[in-house]
Amino acid sequence: MSTVTKVHARYVYDSRGNPTVEVDLTTAKGVFRAIVPSGASTGVHEALELRDGDKSKWLGKGVLKAVSNVNNIIAPAVVKAKIPVTEQAKFDEFLNSLDGTPNKGKLGANAILGVSLAVAKAAAALKGVPLYAYFSDLIGSKKPYVLPVPFMNVLNGGTHAGGSLAFQEFMIAPVGAKSFHEAMEIGAEVYQHLKKLAKKEYGQSAANVGDEGGVAPDIQTPEEALDLIVEAIKAAGHWGKVGIAMDSASSEFFKNGKYDLDFKNPKSAGSRALTGAQLGDLYAKLMAKYPLVSLEDPYAEDDWETWTTNFPKTKIQIVGDDLTVTNPKRIAIAIEKKACDALLLKVNQIGSLTESIQAAKDAYAAGWGVMVSHRSGETEDTTIADLTVGLRTGQLKCGAPARSERLAKYNQLMRIEEELGDKAVFAGRDFHIGNKL
Ligand code: PEP
Ligand code: MG
Repeated sequence: MSTVTKVHARYVYDSRGNPTVEVDLTTAKGVFRAIVPSGASTGVHEALELRDGDKSKWLGKGVLKAVSNVNNIIAPAVVKAKIPVTEQAKFDEFLNSLDGTPNKGKLGANAILGVSLAVAKAAAALKGVPLYAYFSDLIGSKKPYVLPVPFMNVLNGGTHAGGSLAFQEFMIAPVGAKSFHEAMEIGAEVYQHLKKLAKKEYGQSAANVGDEGGVAPDIQTPEEALDLIVEAIKAAGHWGKVGIAMDSASSEFFKNGKYDLDFKNPKSAGSRALTGAQLGDLYAKLMAKYPLVSLEDPYAEDDWETWTTNFPKTKIQIVGDDLTVTNPKRIAIAIEKKACDALLLKVNQIGSLTESIQAAKDAYAAGWGVMVSHRSGETEDTTIADLTVGLRTGQLKCGAPARSERLAKYNQLMRIEEELGDKAVFAGRDFHIGNKL
């Protein structure tokens, strides 16, 4: 039997200690579980993450309403509808119709996504195939599997860490590795050197980590962060094999038409505020000096003008996250306006598997790259590891090689690479065109 006999949601806790939705979905094959992640630097155009807002519990961050929506609205409807779990698109359409709003504002994207992902796991089990193989079927791929370059966020700033640094993420991407295993080894070694160097140069507390497991020294400028990372790559003996990527998450510091690099200082008088053009010049200097290979959300989510003016002048991958929010409608605008050339794919930004896969397809059709991504609030759920392999994205980011909610995904990719052996290729320097390998 390929239909659902029971759906049960509960709340559990994410890596920041906030409640999140977990769904158990039952078919004749067993019980299939998905846990929903949660962002901190969320884009304003994301689907709605339903939080209770009752300040007397979990500071308003409870998900009791979302859990109740699964148990009392989605569960009975799904059991009655008898849609086979192998009909993912029909299933997701049905879930969307129960919600009836364009942004999943009634039931919550967190409620819907938990069910959507659990359905896929049930379908893979029914077909007797690994989850990555099922995702590959869903996108209609006939090619060999691609293991992604791990973009490891080894230095955390922005809203993911204390300290003054405005820019959110500094990632190492071992593009010169020959396999995912080697990429992880390189990343882990660079990370250990980085911790030592951060302590040496900025004091003991600099090695404390931010939300995604990267070090969080109290530095001010991107140059300080990049210098430290360059030093760590060299100390580990991997110079030449590692690219660096940044996620500025600049929507967080776009205020009154300017980018305030001092936004974490409550007393900021705007003395470090830059125009879009000045911020573009800063990136140009960084690109000339450091081995940068990818830049995400360099400009704010609605500052289309700066995105479109500066994109043609850049030679590295430019990734839309808050700009595109895994939403086919926003992606279409970004393609039409030539704002960037890669999609950050976060399943909870849009709230269903089918729409996430559509987002990847649209990005590929425009010649873009696709980077699968975790959220800063994560769990032990490893679905995105299988997703990046099945969709052949060639690149994924899920934090530093530290903290088990991050390693859960990287470790799953180690298992997948071991299982696939010669049947998979590692994206390496071709991470931007993973789907064409
Ligand atoms: C990001 O901005 O890419 C990110 C992972 O952060 P968050 O989950 O806080 O949006
Ligand atoms: Mg981002």
